[in-house]
Amino acid sequence: MRLDIISIFPEYFAPLDVSLIGKARERGTLDVRVHQLRDWAHDVHKTVDDTPYGGGPGMVMKPEVWGEAIDTVVGDGSPRMIVPTPSGRPFTQELAQELADEPWLLFACGRYEGIDSRVMDEYATRLRVDEVSIGDYVLAGGEVAVLVMVEAIGRLLPGVLGNAQSAVDDSFAPGSMQNLVEGPVYTKPPVWRGHEVPPVLLSGHHGNVARWRRDQAIRRTVRNRPELARELDPGTLDKHDRKL
Ligand code: SAM
Repeated sequence: MRLDIISIFPEYFAPLDVSLIGKARERGTLDVRVHQLRDWAHDVHKTVDDTPYGGGPGMVMKPEVWGEAIDTVVGDGSPRMIVPTPSGRPFTQELAQELADEPWLLFACGRYEGIDSRVMDEYATRLRVDEVSIGDYVLAGGEVAVLVMVEAIGRLLPGVLGNAQSAVDDSFAPGSMQNLVEGPVYTKPPVWRGHEVPPVLLSGHHGNVARWRRDQAIRRTVRNRPELARELDPGTLDKHDRKL
């Protein structure tokens, strides 16, 4: 998969050199190219922003510089363009999976009050453009949002996780974990500071372990994410689930 990221702070993306994503890049599973937006600004100060029409505080990123940058990076190609913004559609595990199936993604990192809206209008005429929010809070810029998305997408690419089953059992995974968060997890020793590992996990009984994990996932979802629990598809619940 190819990922292009345009930003005024390319140094934000140093973490993409380490861990799972770093290894995926070394192996060639991920081809990440980070571009400095200011390279397409023509004045001596490399200006990328200007005052907003209609007044108000803050600055808005200029369309001309974004247009030149995106035209150069995209060429004749057609990546799916992702624009992080708090006003976008929510970034979910489902969207991460959808984006992991794309061959090429282009991320446009906003700063200040965001990017002049005509940039998204212009590219929506020839690319698939999604404005995406990573949560209901406001960051200073799109870079951290892109790091979040790249990590969530990258770990879903074939061969990136050591054990592909992990992603299937994760919170929110399409299938049996749809609209569920994962329950608690434990490792050795069996007793730590008086806290015991639930005996069922030591039983070696796969059926009982699976049942316990599902119960815990449902209980935790009801407790921490009631709005998700309400979305559980009744068709996917068995008699035991419904009692919880
Ligand atoms: N004035 C904008 C608003 O209220 O919607 C906020 C702009 S924010 C200070 C600057 C940039 O940070 C945005 O253009 C976007 O790239 C990024 N950003 C901030 N919060 C975000 C979020 N929750 N999800 C994705 N990107 C975000």
